[in-house]
Parts: sequence; structure tokens; C-alpha cells
Amino acid sequence: MTEASGTALRAYVAAVILAGAAALAASVADLRPADALGPRPVVVAVFVALLVVGELSPLAWLASRDGGEITASWTFSLGLILLAPPGTAMIVIALVGAALELRLRKPLVRVLFNTAQVTVSIAAADLLVTLLADRAELWSPAGPGVRWVLVVFAAGMLAVVVNALLTCAVLALSQQLSIVRVVREAALADWALDLLLIGLTPVLLVVSVRSFVVFPLLLIVVVGVYLSARVAWGHRHEATHDLLTGLPNRRMFFRQSELSLKAAQSRHRQMALLVIDLDGFKEINDRLGHAVGDLALRHVAQRLSSQRRAADLVARLGGDEFVVLLGGTIDDDGARAMAAALRESLREPLMVDGVPVHVGGSVGLAVYPEHGEDVDTLLAHADAAMYQAKTARTGVGVYDGERDRNGPTRLGMLAELNSALDRHDELFCVYQPKIDLRTGLVCGVEALVRWRHPSRGVLAAGHFMPVAEQTELMDRLTMRVLRDAVAQAVAWAERGYEVPVSINVSARNLMQYRFPEAVREVLVQYGLPARMVEMEITENTVTSDPVRAEVVLGMLRKLGVAISLDDFGTGYSSLAHLRGLPLDAVKIDRSFVKNLCTNHGDQVIVRSIIDLASNLDLRTVAEGVEDDETLQRLRELGCDMAQGFYLCVPTDAAEVEGQIVARAALAALRDGSGAQP
Ligand code: C2E
Ligand code: CA
Ligand code: CA
Repeated sequence: MTEASGTALRAYVAAVILAGAAALAASVADLRPADALGPRPVVVAVFVALLVVGELSPLAWLASRDGGEITASWTFSLGLILLAPPGTAMIVIALVGAALELRLRKPLVRVLFNTAQVTVSIAAADLLVTLLADRAELWSPAGPGVRWVLVVFAAGMLAVVVNALLTCAVLALSQQLSIVRVVREAALADWALDLLLIGLTPVLLVVSVRSFVVFPLLLIVVVGVYLSARVAWGHRHEATHDLLTGLPNRRMFFRQSELSLKAAQSRHRQMALLVIDLDGFKEINDRLGHAVGDLALRHVAQRLSSQRRAADLVARLGGDEFVVLLGGTIDDDGARAMAAALRESLREPLMVDGVPVHVGGSVGLAVYPEHGEDVDTLLAHADAAMYQAKTARTGVGVYDGERDRNGPTRLGMLAELNSALDRHDELFCVYQPKIDLRTGLVCGVEALVRWRHPSRGVLAAGHFMPVAEQTELMDRLTMRVLRDAVAQAVAWAERGYEVPVSINVSARNLMQYRFPEAVREVLVQYGLPARMVEMEITENTVTSDPVRAEVVLGMLRKLGVAISLDDFGTGYSSLAHLRGLPLDAVKIDRSFVKNLCTNHGDQVIVRSIIDLASNLDLRTVAEGVEDDETLQRLRELGCDMAQGFYLCVPTDAAEVEGQIVARAALAALRDGSGAQP
């Protein structure tokens, strides 16, 4: 928000609060305690009771679902200013309004503003009645005339209009839109409901004064109107809101974001999206049950909503993923501050049914126009930043275009990769054998993906994996590799070679509870026993959301799939630290293997990894073996397996098969047994 517009907004809010306070003070000063309740205290008491019920129950229902500003049940408010002396009415209306706001846990400024807004609206209605109608007419034996009825109705409309204008002005100021446009976009349906309720006021008043016995019957009608309005409103609401939390849903989020983006474009200002993903939410669901999980999500929705400014929109995209649209005027610092505030708001444990429940969240930020020019891109980039924040455990991440090598190329690549995934010929796997250092046999192969790019030739994983990893394409890519590898293992098995295949899985896969099931389906489809498949994970995949990753790994393990820890030694966690994970093997990162024979430090590291792993009953694989000397040293150190260019470069299935046969023949010769592979 620019300095000037921020100041204007604050001045406006302060002015409305002051006006409300002044209106309230004036009516209190006017009040004579002797006739505080007017000629018919019982009727006044009934209206007050109805106002309280009307404000706190059905309308609170609406308000809590909307997060919006359904501020008064106009029927009874308007009734009160005619039944009781103005002072009483104003005090009661202000108090009830404030109580509703407090119950919805709005920040103090909003409580004050909204209360003042209702007070000012009602004061306007009161003024109109005082100027144009004779209040006493209500009590006269002949009953009120046409003029009185019209003035009361007009006063009610005035209150609604003033109230709406006060709200629209806040929106216009905070989003820097013209007030005309905001008024035009305000939902007409809400106004219709207000008018209906106001139309009922004169009827209720006359009946309550003249024939109090009929009054309850009339109330049934009023309640009926409320209920049917509520149903109609509910239908409208459901299409655009999430049932569980009451927050706007994906659809509404996109609609609002498009509007916000257009406004930002035409005014040459920024707009920002924040994606929030909860940490360890599945854990809550599993341990404490879905009912608690649902409650926790509601609490999270409230926490996030409590941070939003007037121009912001908090939505739930599904599952435990929330998104915040920072509309109006926002700069980089403001957006960052908001991201930090949202994350901070989730730090305190949630009290769910009196039990403290800890959830944290990771927040990703993308800003228009710097990080994207349309909503889809911004959302994808905020999502990427969120994953980045989760992986690096920084909590908050800003989209880093540099990391992605300027956006457009990256997007182009994503589009190409997407279509490559739809085709059969562009993406394929090469396989690199793992050699058993004791027997010299091929004891497994690692599948490594390659992309035969139409114009750039064959690309190794490093050229596109970092980009794919940040998006949903990764899910398809992993499944594609898994299918190819499984099909290959089956083909080898049919030719008499039992070769387990390893595939690499990314952090994204381990964040998804449906991943193990997808793996199982592939195994069943191809008829390959699970023990023939291994998943390679890295420390980073696990540390980003350890609880979730552990659950998913546990599920994979239960299937019978082996799990190995890739690139070990490069991260910060110690093996002891990772012993909670269901691991079968560790792969010693090639950076230590490379200089094994020349660097004493590296040798110490490799030796201790091997010792520790064997104590923990884990097999060891050395990767990146490039010469014979290193191979011998690894053997001496007691390493179980090796992989590297010296042994075999990653290559196609036929060549790998050649290796399998050749090594088996060599082993047979050495053993002198003549055994077949
Ligand atoms: P990684 O899992 O550590 O895979 C081993 C990488 O080391 C491969 O590179 C392989 O070609 C290379 N390599 C093998 N032997 C030697 C050697 O002796 N010396 C040297 N300098 N390098 C050697 P590649 O295929 O380019 O893959 C790079 C990384 O991309 C992989 O590292 C893995 O993290 C990722 N990746 C590859 N395929 C997939 C895949 O299908 N899915 C996922 N999620 N990641 C993959
Ligand atoms: Ca690997
Ligand atoms: Ca590796």
C-alpha cells in the first residue's frame, strides 16, 4: 500500500469510528433515565431480545460463513428506534453489534469500525424519522398513517444504504478502486434481503403495539423469511465457498484473483499470492481422528482470516492447502511481512476441544508482475516457493526467478515437458548397474530418466528435473519412470535375470499419501513382486516434512518396497538421526567417493559411514566410482556395492543385459563352478 492511500484509509476509518462515537454520545446525552424504555417497556424488551437473538444466532451463522459484513438485523434495529427513545435504541444496537464482532474475533479496529458503521447508519435512520415523521403516531389510537409507514420504510432503506456505502468506501480506499465500481459490484442479492427485512418492520411495530397476542404469529412469518433467505443464501454460498471452513473456495479464489489482477494491471501496481501448506496435518488426522482434523482446519482458517486486511482474500484450495490473495496496494515488504505474520499465526498451538494441537505451516510468496503475469503462473510460483520453504525449512519462501533461470524459459520448458509426458518417444530411462563388491555380479540397476528433446537432443536429468520438481509434473514423471522400470524388470525376469530396479523419488512424492497406493497399483498391473523395486530418497526429501514423509515411507515399506538413502553425507543429518526411517541401504555421495584415495578426510568420512551403516544393519552403496583404485579401496573398507562410470555408465536395457551376462560369466569362471546367471 502506498503511503498516501494508507494514510487516506486510516483517516477514513478513524473518521467513521469518531462519527459513530459522536452519534452514540449525542443520543446518550439525550436520554432521560426516567423514560429510558419508552411507553411500552415490555415490547421494547421483546425487541431487544429479538435483536440479540437475530444478531447472534442466524445472522452470526451467515457472517461466520462469509467472513463478510452482515452487520445488523435491520428489522429489529429499526423497530427499536421507533419503540424506545433514540438513546436506548442506539446503545443497545451498538452493544449488540460489538458483541457480534467480538464473538467473530475480529481485530479491535474492525470491531470499532463495524460497530461505528452500524451506529452511524442507524443514527441516519433515526434522524430521518425525527425530521419527517411523528414518533407518537405509533402509539395513537388511530394508528400510524401512510406517511409514517413510508418514512419508516425510507429510514430503513437509508440505514442499509449508508451502511453499504461505508463498507464500499473502505474497499474502494484499500483497493484503490473507484467507489462507483465497488458499489456496482456489491452483491445485489444481499440488498434484496435487507429490503425484505425492512419491509417487515412497520408491520411488526404496529402489531406489537396494537395486538400483542398476534405478535408471536407474525414472528413465525419473520423467522420463515429468515430461514428461506438463509437457504437461498446458503445455495449461493456453497457454489463459492468451502463447506468445512466457510472460506472462499478455489472457484471464488480464481474469480477474485482475476479481478484483482485486472485492477493491478490497469493501475500499474503489484499484487501478491501466498500459498500456505500445513506441516504434519495428516499426523493429526491419523492420530486424533478426522473430526479433530476438521476442527483443526477450521481453527487454521480462523487464524489465517484474522490476519487478513480488508482487501485480502483467504481461501482453501483443498486438503490442508490455503491461499491468500493480497489485493489492494501491496509492496514487497508488505507481502513478506504478511507471509511472516501468517506463518507466525500458526505457531501457537490450536486449542481443539481443549487439547493443544501443534500445526506449523510453510508459506510461499509470488508477486505480480515480477513473478508472473497471470493467476495460474503466480499460483504455481507461490507453490514452488512454498515447497522451497518447506524443503529448506525456512518457513517462508519468496519465489526465486533466478533459481529457475528466468521465468519464460522455465514455463516453456514446463509446457514442453508436459507434452513430452503425453508422448511415448521423448522420455525414456537409462539404467546404471550396481555391482556387488563381494561377488562382482550386477545386483540391481538404477533407472535414470532422459529426455530426447525435439530440438536440444538428449537431456540428462539435471536439465529439467529441478524445474519439474517444483510442479505437479513431477508426479507424472515419477510414475512414468516407475512404470518403465517395472516393465523392464519384468522383461528381464522373463528372460531369466532377476534384477531389482531402483527409482528416484522426489520430496513431492513423499508428501502425497496416495503415492504408495499408486506404486502398488503399478506393481499389481505388471505382476512384479514389491521386493524387486527400490525407492531412492534424499535427506532433503525427508527433512522438509519429516512426519509426513515418514508416514509415506512406512506405507511404501509395508508394500515390501526397499528404500535407500541417496546422496548420503551431503545433508546435515546424521545417520543416527535418520534411524527412525525404514531404510535398507545408504548411498554414499559421489563427492566423498571421488577423492577417496587422495583425500584423507574423505576417506575418514566414507569409513565412518560404512561402519555406522553396518551397525545399523544397512547396506552401503558407493556412487560415482570412476577408477579401479577407488573400487579396491571401497572393497577394503567393507562397502557392499558400487556404482559408477568405471563399472558401467547409465545405458539402455540391452547393454545393461550384456553387463549382467558378462559379469555372471566372469564370476562363474572365477568360482570355477560353471553356474548360470
Ligand atoms: P543421482 O540419483 O545421484 O543419480 C546418479 C547420477 O550420477 C546420474 O546422473 C548418473 O549419470 C551420475 N553418475 C553415475 N556414475 C557416475 C560417475 O562415476 N561419476 C559421475 N560424475 N557421475 C556419475 P543423472 O542421470 O544426470 O541424474 C542426476 C540426478 O537427477 C540424479 O542423481 C537424481 O537425483 C536425479 N534423477 C535422475 N533420474 C531421476 C528420476 O527418474 N526421478 C527423479 N526424481 N530424479 C532423477
Ligand atoms: Ca539416485
Ligand atoms: Ca546419488
